[in-house]
Amino acid sequence: MLITNARLRHRGDALHDVETTDGRIAAVTPAAGTAAPGRDDVLDADGALLIPPFVDAHVHLDYANTVGQPRHNASGTLFEAIDIWADHKAEGYVTREAVLENATAAVRAEVGNGVGFLRTHVDVTDPDLTALDAVLELKDRVRDWCELQVIAFPQNGILAYPGGADLMAEAMRRGADVVGGIPHFERSRESGVASLHHVFDLAERHDALIDVHCDEIDDDQSRYLEVMAELAVERGWQGRVTASHAVAMAYYSPGYMAKLLPKLVQAEMRFAVNPTENLQLQGWGQAAPMARGVAPIKELLEAGLNVALGQDSIADPWYPIGEGDLLRVLESGLHVGHLLSEPMLQRCLDLITVNGARNLGLDLRDYGVHVGAEADLVLLDARDDKDALWHHADVLASVRRGRLVFRRPRREFTEAMEGFLPERPAARLAA
Ligand SMILES: [Zn+2]
Repeated sequence: MLITNARLRHRGDALHDVETTDGRIAAVTPAAGTAAPGRDDVLDADGALLIPPFVDAHVHLDYANTVGQPRHNASGTLFEAIDIWADHKAEGYVTREAVLENATAAVRAEVGNGVGFLRTHVDVTDPDLTALDAVLELKDRVRDWCELQVIAFPQNGILAYPGGADLMAEAMRRGADVVGGIPHFERSRESGVASLHHVFDLAERHDALIDVHCDEIDDDQSRYLEVMAELAVERGWQGRVTASHAVAMAYYSPGYMAKLLPKLVQAEMRFAVNPTENLQLQGWGQAAPMARGVAPIKELLEAGLNVALGQDSIADPWYPIGEGDLLRVLESGLHVGHLLSEPMLQRCLDLITVNGARNLGLDLRDYGVHVGAEADLVLLDARDDKDALWHHADVLASVRRGRLVFRRPRREFTEAMEGFLPERPAARLAA
């Protein structure tokens, strides 16, 4: 297909044409400015911003759209949510059909919001691995819309759950891509450390990436992050390990942070931060001043570490709303992280695009708007990163491997109303 008159990130107001062939980008050239007669595969971007798809670096598709089953989270806390989920499993809610229906709806919402890659954790503390099989089936079903990466996630612990280690191994055998963990939920500090050794052993056996729910607790003594960094270096797994949430970092003292950050850099640790969800879950019962319980995105970025954002929850026991709208997640992350500086605003989409791609281990030669990359593209009704965030840009189209997934019309207003709207230079410039 041919996409005409597109803005590109960091290229100012210049418009470009992007040609795709066999699912890859074949050419990026200055806009010819003329219609392409006789072609029915032309998408006129009309000055909108063409970017690679958003990456949801952390989501739980098997939990999506289960809120209220069997009950709502009254305390708002993470640990009540884990108890509700255990009851959800025990009461037979987890069936192949239910997971497929709920997760498909979640993926549709994500794709409709411009997401093209999702890293989904799936609870494998279930003797039947019902949800895992359903999500692996879903991965195949939605291949023409987006790409799912599946993490074997031991919600109730690798050691704390009976047979947890065997279920993790079986999940990897059945086709999970990435090894997960939850050390702060194991029964003791020592068990948490032992569970991480288990995670790395399993990852080595499958040559797999690691993504652990790490220190998701309002406790400055929860310090599994340093254990993960040590193991990453010892095992030669640098750049292949993601710490998700890392909530306890919000409580670490400056002295401990000064010791920790260089170790994280040495391990090339990746981070998946979930600001909307952890703003809701953390800090309950804390004395003033109220802690916010979100990993320090700014400090991590300034240390040169890779930080990506994720939706985490879509209407589940942990978080009652959410729809994979990563611009909304980004807005929360930038606010809680004190990140509304002009330089950050100019490249803020990195946190929901290329940084997520790095977490997922995607080859960056394949991801982006450049010749040779996979033709996975999204059109935003915006002129640049800041504009997209500021005006919560509409997603006008999504393309996967050179084929249109969806398009929707740009909002149109009567001429009389035009004068009262914020100026939309993208729309005007193409006219
Ligand atoms: Zn999570």
